[in-house]
Amino acid sequence: MRKYKSPRLCLNLVKIDSKFLNLPKIRTYLKVTEHIAGAKSTLFSFEVLPSLKGRDIQDLFSGVDPLIEFNPSFINVTYHREEFVFKKLSNGLHERRSTRKRPGTVSICAAIKNKYGVDTVPHLICGGFSRDETESALLDMHYLGMNNVLALRGDPVKGESIFVPERDGHAHASTLVKQISEMNNGNYLDDEIVEGIPTDFCIGVAGYPEKHFEAQNLKTDLRHLKEKVDAGAHYIVTQLFFDNQKYFAFVDACRKSGIDVPIIPGIKPITTLKHIQFLPKTFYIDLPEALADELEKCKTSEQAMQVGIEWSIQQVKELISHGVPCIHFYTMGKSDAVRRIVKAAY
Ligand code: FAD
Repeated sequence: MRKYKSPRLCLNLVKIDSKFLNLPKIRTYLKVTEHIAGAKSTLFSFEVLPSLKGRDIQDLFSGVDPLIEFNPSFINVTYHREEFVFKKLSNGLHERRSTRKRPGTVSICAAIKNKYGVDTVPHLICGGFSRDETESALLDMHYLGMNNVLALRGDPVKGESIFVPERDGHAHASTLVKQISEMNNGNYLDDEIVEGIPTDFCIGVAGYPEKHFEAQNLKTDLRHLKEKVDAGAHYIVTQLFFDNQKYFAFVDACRKSGIDVPIIPGIKPITTLKHIQFLPKTFYIDLPEALADELEKCKTSEQAMQVGIEWSIQQVKELISHGVPCIHFYTMGKSDAVRRIVKAAY
């Protein structure tokens, strides 16, 4: 067995060894708000969905690759809660089983950071999590050096009409934000922890220029958005929209309500004929008349995508000319369409 003669010699050997081992450099994460504060022009960011279970990480990377040359400031990875499926048993009866089709949000964030060196933002939802489980999920991110998180409530479980929180879970995103803020102050749930190490999360939340579908009206929804900011949210990312005037009016209304954090617009191009019905129905947003008229003339998805991309290019150009801090693209598996928009508009 090899013996080291002195601590000094031992240190030298370690130095030499690590050179040959080609150890990776420690990567540090910048917060979304730090990216915005340091920006000289409108930033570019986008969101990807974890691959379906059964595929490999290459599947996800193939959606990131086409957009890397545009220097994204950060990449978000969505969170998908469990779904319930009915499996037929050998006795003919059906059993209700829970399954997660797109797991791996936090590890995918780490893999993206490792491969591309780009900052990532994991989404974290209230649905399916108790407060303790939320704390553990946040600690996983913290241990991996991540200091960005998008805090969301999540939708009702598929097939159910109302959102039901877990036992001891959060009913609204505002209390999730509060829990993260408490951890940023070193306050953990376990009251036996004294002088806990504070985390340092930059917290994003969702905002809805056309109102969240459950809210009674836009004003009430804004009040709840303000609660998230008062609880410690550092910035807002909007739901997708196709009418920039709605975004501008939303920003004005937020400022009048005392919400002063950055509000990042979310953009998604129409890429198939199906989107004409699917997007308004799923996201509770309107397609402006001029866009709807153009789409009505389309016979194929290729034509609809052309119209959709053109529309998004004009939207993005106008948003950039208004000096928005960043534009966040929902890729939804269509990175090539986003690539065409960014290439034309930035
Ligand atoms: P909340 O802020 O809790 O608001 C939900 C509703 O409750 C609103 O109508 C609000 O007005 C109301 N409300 C809030 N507080 C109160 C209160 N104290 N009393 C009464 N009513 C209240 N979903 C996922 O499952 N995974 C994702 O990765 C994901 N990413 C998203 C990213 C963005 C940018 C956006 C815009 C949405 C995303 N979603 C995601 C969807 C989101 O989870 C849903 O829109 C969900 O229905 C609401 O989430 P929220 O965080 O806005 O909820």
